[in-house]
Amino acid sequence: RVKERGRAHYQFYRTDMNSAITNFLAIETHLRKAIEKGELFLHYQPQIDLVTGKARSFEALLRWNSIELGPVSPGLFIPLAEDTGLIISIGNWVIENACKQIRLWNKKGYTDFRVAINISPKQLQQPNFISYLKNALEKHNVHPSSLEIEITEGSMENTNEAVPALKKLKKLGITIAVDDFGTGYSSLSYLKQFPIDVLKIDQSFVKDIIGNDKDAAIASAIIHLGKSLGVEVIAEGVETALQADFLTKEECHKAQGYFFSKPLPANEAEEKYLSLPMVLQEYS
Ligand code: C2E
Ligand code: MG
Ligand code: MG
Ligand code: MG
Repeated sequence: RVKERGRAHYQFYRTDMNSAITNFLAIETHLRKAIEKGELFLHYQPQIDLVTGKARSFEALLRWNSIELGPVSPGLFIPLAEDTGLIISIGNWVIENACKQIRLWNKKGYTDFRVAINISPKQLQQPNFISYLKNALEKHNVHPSSLEIEITEGSMENTNEAVPALKKLKKLGITIAVDDFGTGYSSLSYLKQFPIDVLKIDQSFVKDIIGNDKDAAIASAIIHLGKSLGVEVIAEGVETALQADFLTKEECHKAQGYFFSKPLPANEAEEKYLSLPMVLQEYS
Protein backbone atom coordinates (compact mmCIF):
# COMPACT_ATOMS: atom_id res chain seq x y z
CA ARG A 1 0.00 0.00 0.00
CA VAL A 2 2.64 2.41 1.03
CA LYS A 3 4.63 1.44 -2.04
CA GLU A 4 1.63 2.00 -4.29
CA ARG A 5 0.96 5.36 -2.84
CA GLY A 6 4.62 6.14 -3.24
CA ARG A 7 4.47 5.17 -6.87
CA ALA A 8 1.31 7.15 -7.44
CA HIS A 9 2.94 10.14 -5.88
CA TYR A 10 6.02 9.59 -8.00
CA GLN A 11 3.93 9.35 -11.15
CA PHE A 12 2.08 12.51 -10.30
CA TYR A 13 5.38 14.24 -9.67
CA ARG A 14 6.82 12.88 -12.90
CA THR A 15 3.84 14.06 -14.96
CA ASP A 16 4.30 17.46 -13.41
CA MET A 17 7.99 17.43 -14.27
CA ASN A 18 7.25 16.33 -17.81
CA SER A 19 4.95 19.23 -18.42
CA ALA A 20 7.53 21.56 -16.93
CA ILE A 21 10.18 20.13 -19.26
CA THR A 22 7.81 20.27 -22.23
CA ASN A 23 7.10 23.91 -21.46
CA PHE A 24 10.79 24.62 -21.25
CA LEU A 25 11.39 22.99 -24.63
CA ALA A 26 8.45 24.85 -26.12
CA ILE A 27 9.83 28.11 -24.82
CA GLU A 28 13.25 27.31 -26.26
CA THR A 29 11.75 26.38 -29.65
CA HIS A 30 9.87 29.67 -29.81
CA LEU A 31 12.77 31.71 -28.45
CA ARG A 32 14.99 30.42 -31.28
CA LYS A 33 12.66 32.11 -33.76
CA ALA A 34 11.89 35.23 -31.71
CA ILE A 35 14.43 37.46 -33.48
CA GLU A 36 13.41 36.61 -37.05
CA LYS A 37 9.75 36.90 -36.11
CA GLY A 38 10.33 40.36 -34.69
CA GLU A 39 9.01 39.42 -31.25
CA LEU A 40 11.77 41.10 -29.23
CA PHE A 41 11.84 44.73 -28.22
CA LEU A 42 13.47 46.95 -25.63
CA HIS A 43 11.94 48.96 -22.86
CA TYR A 44 13.81 51.84 -21.24
CA GLN A 45 13.73 52.53 -17.51
CA PRO A 46 14.89 56.01 -16.47
CA GLN A 47 17.56 56.38 -13.81
CA ILE A 48 16.75 59.49 -11.81
CA ASP A 49 19.48 61.82 -10.61
CA LEU A 50 18.54 62.36 -6.96
CA VAL A 51 19.98 65.88 -6.92
CA THR A 52 18.41 67.31 -10.08
CA GLY A 53 15.38 64.99 -10.23
CA LYS A 54 16.05 64.44 -13.94
CA ALA A 55 16.85 61.34 -15.93
CA ARG A 56 19.92 61.41 -18.12
CA SER A 57 20.37 57.65 -18.32
CA PHE A 58 18.17 54.66 -19.05
CA GLU A 59 18.49 50.92 -18.59
CA ALA A 60 17.45 48.98 -21.69
CA LEU A 61 15.45 45.91 -20.62
CA LEU A 62 14.62 43.17 -23.07
CA ARG A 63 11.00 42.21 -23.68
CA TRP A 64 9.69 39.17 -25.55
CA ASN A 65 6.12 39.14 -26.78
CA SER A 66 5.74 35.66 -28.25
CA ILE A 67 2.96 35.14 -30.78
CA GLU A 68 2.34 31.63 -29.39
CA LEU A 69 3.10 32.11 -25.69
CA GLY A 70 2.24 35.74 -25.06
CA PRO A 71 4.60 37.96 -23.06
CA VAL A 72 7.37 35.92 -21.41
CA SER A 73 9.29 37.33 -18.43
CA PRO A 74 13.05 37.99 -18.85
CA GLY A 75 13.46 36.27 -15.49
CA LEU A 76 12.39 33.11 -17.32
CA PHE A 77 13.79 33.41 -20.85
CA ILE A 78 17.16 35.06 -20.10
CA PRO A 79 18.43 32.14 -17.95
CA LEU A 80 17.15 29.77 -20.65
CA ALA A 81 18.94 31.77 -23.33
CA GLU A 82 22.09 31.62 -21.21
CA ASP A 83 21.85 27.84 -20.79
CA THR A 84 21.22 27.17 -24.49
CA GLY A 85 23.75 29.63 -25.90
CA LEU A 86 20.95 31.65 -27.51
CA ILE A 87 22.10 34.58 -25.36
CA ILE A 88 24.82 35.34 -27.93
CA SER A 89 22.46 36.10 -30.82
CA ILE A 90 19.91 37.68 -28.48
CA GLY A 91 22.62 39.78 -26.82
CA ASN A 92 23.83 40.92 -30.24
CA TRP A 93 20.27 41.89 -31.12
CA VAL A 94 20.14 43.99 -27.94
CA ILE A 95 23.44 45.72 -28.80
CA GLU A 96 22.26 46.53 -32.35
CA ASN A 97 18.87 47.78 -31.27
CA ALA A 98 20.11 49.87 -28.34
CA CYS A 99 22.62 51.51 -30.73
CA LYS A 100 19.86 52.13 -33.30
CA GLN A 101 17.74 53.81 -30.63
CA ILE A 102 20.61 55.96 -29.36
CA ARG A 103 21.27 57.09 -32.94
CA LEU A 104 17.59 57.85 -33.47
CA TRP A 105 17.53 60.01 -30.34
CA ASN A 106 20.80 61.71 -31.39
CA LYS A 107 19.21 62.62 -34.73
CA LYS A 108 16.33 64.25 -32.86
CA GLY A 109 18.85 66.43 -31.04
CA TYR A 110 19.21 64.49 -27.80
CA THR A 111 22.87 63.84 -27.10
CA ASP A 112 23.24 64.29 -23.38
CA PHE A 113 22.13 60.81 -22.20
CA ARG A 114 23.35 57.26 -21.74
CA VAL A 115 21.76 53.86 -22.35
CA ALA A 116 22.81 50.89 -20.21
CA ILE A 117 22.53 47.36 -21.61
CA ASN A 118 22.80 44.11 -19.66
CA ILE A 119 25.65 41.82 -20.71
CA SER A 120 25.72 38.13 -19.72
CA PRO A 121 28.97 36.47 -18.66
CA LYS A 122 28.85 34.22 -21.76
CA GLN A 123 28.69 37.27 -24.03
CA LEU A 124 31.65 38.94 -22.38
CA GLN A 125 33.63 35.70 -22.72
CA GLN A 126 33.18 35.65 -26.51
CA PRO A 127 36.58 36.39 -28.08
CA ASN A 128 34.95 38.76 -30.58
CA PHE A 129 32.70 40.56 -28.09
CA ILE A 130 34.72 43.77 -28.02
CA SER A 131 35.09 43.99 -31.80
CA TYR A 132 31.37 43.25 -32.20
CA LEU A 133 30.48 46.09 -29.83
CA LYS A 134 32.98 48.44 -31.46
CA ASN A 135 31.63 47.65 -34.93
CA ALA A 136 28.05 48.20 -33.77
CA LEU A 137 28.95 51.62 -32.37
CA GLU A 138 30.71 52.58 -35.60
CA LYS A 139 28.02 51.16 -37.86
CA HIS A 140 25.28 53.11 -36.10
CA ASN A 141 27.46 56.18 -35.63
CA VAL A 142 27.06 56.12 -31.84
CA HIS A 143 29.57 57.71 -29.48
CA PRO A 144 30.87 55.15 -26.92
CA SER A 145 30.11 57.59 -24.08
CA SER A 146 26.39 57.05 -24.85
CA LEU A 147 26.70 53.39 -23.97
CA GLU A 148 26.96 51.73 -20.59
CA ILE A 149 27.28 48.00 -20.01
CA GLU A 150 25.95 46.28 -16.90
CA ILE A 151 27.85 43.20 -15.85
CA THR A 152 27.29 40.99 -12.83
CA GLU A 153 29.82 39.54 -10.46
CA GLY A 154 29.45 36.31 -12.45
CA SER A 155 31.33 38.06 -15.27
CA MET A 156 34.15 39.00 -12.95
CA GLU A 157 34.95 35.54 -11.60
CA ASN A 158 37.16 34.79 -14.60
CA THR A 159 39.42 37.64 -13.53
CA ASN A 160 42.38 36.94 -15.82
CA GLU A 161 40.29 37.33 -18.94
CA ALA A 162 37.64 39.74 -17.70
CA VAL A 163 39.99 42.46 -16.41
CA PRO A 164 41.77 43.07 -19.75
CA ALA A 165 38.47 42.87 -21.66
CA LEU A 166 36.83 45.46 -19.45
CA LYS A 167 39.89 47.71 -19.55
CA LYS A 168 39.64 47.70 -23.35
CA LEU A 169 35.94 48.58 -23.21
CA LYS A 170 36.65 51.35 -20.74
CA LYS A 171 39.42 52.67 -23.02
CA LEU A 172 36.90 52.86 -25.85
CA GLY A 173 34.89 55.22 -23.64
CA ILE A 174 32.14 52.83 -22.61
CA THR A 175 30.81 53.16 -19.05
CA ILE A 176 30.97 50.02 -16.90
CA ALA A 177 28.39 49.24 -14.22
CA VAL A 178 28.20 46.34 -11.79
CA ASP A 179 24.61 45.09 -11.61
CA ASP A 180 23.03 43.44 -8.55
CA PHE A 181 25.99 44.58 -6.47
CA GLY A 182 26.39 42.80 -3.15
CA THR A 183 24.69 39.55 -4.14
CA GLY A 184 27.81 37.75 -5.44
CA TYR A 185 31.24 36.95 -3.99
CA SER A 186 34.45 38.92 -3.47
CA SER A 187 32.89 42.23 -4.39
CA LEU A 188 35.59 44.22 -2.64
CA SER A 189 38.59 42.69 -4.37
CA TYR A 190 36.80 43.04 -7.72
CA LEU A 191 36.41 46.75 -7.05
CA LYS A 192 40.16 47.04 -6.81
CA GLN A 193 40.95 45.17 -10.01
CA PHE A 194 38.18 46.19 -12.39
CA PRO A 195 37.73 49.58 -14.07
CA ILE A 196 34.26 50.19 -12.64
CA ASP A 197 32.30 53.43 -13.08
CA VAL A 198 28.94 52.55 -11.53
CA LEU A 199 27.68 50.32 -8.73
CA LYS A 200 24.03 49.28 -8.76
CA ILE A 201 22.72 48.42 -5.29
CA ASP A 202 20.67 45.27 -5.73
CA GLN A 203 16.95 45.65 -5.21
CA SER A 204 16.97 43.01 -2.45
CA PHE A 205 18.77 45.54 -0.20
CA VAL A 206 16.54 48.43 -1.26
CA LYS A 207 13.25 46.58 -0.70
CA ASP A 208 13.33 46.78 3.12
CA ILE A 209 15.62 49.78 3.45
CA ILE A 210 13.05 51.47 5.69
CA GLY A 211 12.01 48.65 8.01
CA ASN A 212 15.21 46.63 8.21
CA ASP A 213 18.26 48.17 9.91
CA LYS A 214 20.64 45.71 8.31
CA ASP A 215 19.46 46.49 4.78
CA ALA A 216 19.69 50.21 5.56
CA ALA A 217 23.24 49.72 6.85
CA ILE A 218 24.27 47.73 3.75
CA ALA A 219 22.79 50.28 1.35
CA SER A 220 24.47 53.17 3.20
CA ALA A 221 27.78 51.31 3.22
CA ILE A 222 27.63 50.77 -0.56
CA ILE A 223 26.79 54.45 -1.11
CA HIS A 224 29.71 55.58 1.02
CA LEU A 225 32.03 53.02 -0.56
CA GLY A 226 31.09 54.36 -3.97
CA LYS A 227 31.74 57.91 -2.85
CA SER A 228 35.19 57.04 -1.46
CA LEU A 229 36.11 55.19 -4.65
CA GLY A 230 34.76 57.90 -6.93
CA VAL A 231 32.19 55.53 -8.38
CA GLU A 232 28.58 56.46 -9.16
CA VAL A 233 25.96 54.57 -7.15
CA ILE A 234 22.48 53.69 -8.41
CA ALA A 235 19.81 52.14 -6.20
CA GLU A 236 17.56 49.64 -7.99
CA GLY A 237 13.97 48.72 -7.24
CA VAL A 238 12.95 51.99 -5.55
CA GLU A 239 9.19 51.71 -5.06
CA THR A 240 8.29 54.27 -2.38
CA ALA A 241 8.85 57.93 -1.48
CA LEU A 242 10.34 56.87 1.86
CA GLN A 243 12.96 54.74 0.10
CA ALA A 244 13.76 57.61 -2.27
CA ASP A 245 14.06 60.04 0.69
CA PHE A 246 16.39 57.71 2.54
CA LEU A 247 18.62 57.33 -0.52
CA THR A 248 18.62 61.08 -1.16
CA LYS A 249 19.63 61.77 2.45
CA GLU A 250 22.44 59.22 2.14
CA GLU A 251 23.54 61.06 -1.01
CA CYS A 252 23.03 58.16 -3.37
CA HIS A 253 23.59 59.54 -6.91
CA LYS A 254 20.72 57.93 -8.79
CA ALA A 255 17.65 55.79 -8.28
CA GLN A 256 15.70 53.50 -10.55
CA GLY A 257 12.36 51.89 -9.81
CA TYR A 258 8.59 51.86 -10.08
CA PHE A 259 8.31 54.89 -7.74
CA PHE A 260 9.75 56.99 -10.58
CA SER A 261 8.81 54.92 -13.60
CA LYS A 262 8.45 51.39 -14.84
CA PRO A 263 10.47 50.44 -17.94
CA LEU A 264 8.85 52.28 -20.91
CA PRO A 265 8.63 51.88 -24.68
CA ALA A 266 11.22 54.11 -26.38
CA ASN A 267 8.71 56.75 -27.52
CA GLU A 268 7.31 57.15 -23.99
CA ALA A 269 10.78 57.32 -22.43
CA GLU A 270 11.59 60.05 -24.95
CA GLU A 271 8.40 62.02 -24.29
CA LYS A 272 8.59 61.84 -20.52
CA TYR A 273 12.32 62.07 -19.90
CA LEU A 274 14.33 63.20 -22.92
CA SER A 275 12.20 65.99 -24.37
CA LEU A 276 10.03 67.35 -21.57
CA PRO A 277 12.58 67.67 -18.73
CA MET A 278 14.97 69.60 -21.00
CA VAL A 279 12.23 72.11 -21.85
CA LEU A 280 11.29 72.45 -18.17
CA GLN A 281 14.92 72.93 -17.29
CA GLU A 282 15.23 75.81 -19.77
CA TYR A 283 12.17 77.69 -18.62
CA SER A 284 12.24 77.17 -14.88
P1 C2E B 1 18.30 43.63 -13.79
O1 C2E B 1 19.28 44.00 -14.84
O2 C2E B 1 18.75 43.68 -12.39
O3 C2E B 1 17.06 44.60 -14.05
C1 C2E B 1 16.22 45.11 -13.05
C2 C2E B 1 14.90 44.41 -13.02
O4 C2E B 1 14.09 44.99 -12.01
C3 C2E B 1 14.09 44.52 -14.31
O5 C2E B 1 13.34 43.31 -14.43
C4 C2E B 1 13.14 45.68 -13.99
O6 C2E B 1 11.98 45.69 -14.78
C5 C2E B 1 12.85 45.40 -12.54
N1 C2E B 1 12.43 46.58 -11.79
C6 C2E B 1 12.62 47.88 -12.08
N2 C2E B 1 12.10 48.68 -11.13
C7 C2E B 1 11.58 47.88 -10.20
C8 C2E B 1 10.90 48.11 -8.94
O7 C2E B 1 10.67 49.23 -8.50
N3 C2E B 1 10.50 47.01 -8.25
C9 C2E B 1 10.73 45.75 -8.70
N4 C2E B 1 10.30 44.74 -7.95
N5 C2E B 1 11.36 45.49 -9.87
C10 C2E B 1 11.79 46.54 -10.60
P2 C2E B 1 13.15 42.59 -15.81
O8 C2E B 1 12.98 43.60 -16.90
O9 C2E B 1 12.10 41.55 -15.61
O10 C2E B 1 14.55 41.89 -16.04
C11 C2E B 1 15.00 40.90 -15.16
C12 C2E B 1 16.44 40.57 -15.39
O11 C2E B 1 16.62 40.01 -16.71
C13 C2E B 1 17.37 41.79 -15.38
O12 C2E B 1 17.69 42.15 -14.06
C14 C2E B 1 18.56 41.27 -16.15
O13 C2E B 1 19.38 40.50 -15.32
C15 C2E B 1 17.88 40.36 -17.16
N6 C2E B 1 17.79 41.08 -18.45
C16 C2E B 1 16.84 41.93 -18.91
N7 C2E B 1 17.13 42.37 -20.16
C17 C2E B 1 18.32 41.79 -20.49
C18 C2E B 1 19.17 41.83 -21.65
O14 C2E B 1 18.94 42.55 -22.62
N8 C2E B 1 20.30 41.05 -21.62
C19 C2E B 1 20.62 40.28 -20.55
N9 C2E B 1 21.76 39.54 -20.59
N10 C2E B 1 19.87 40.22 -19.44
C20 C2E B 1 18.73 40.96 -19.41
MG1 MG C 1 20.53 45.44 -15.13
MG1 MG D 1 19.93 44.52 -11.09
MG1 MG E 1 18.88 41.10 -11.64
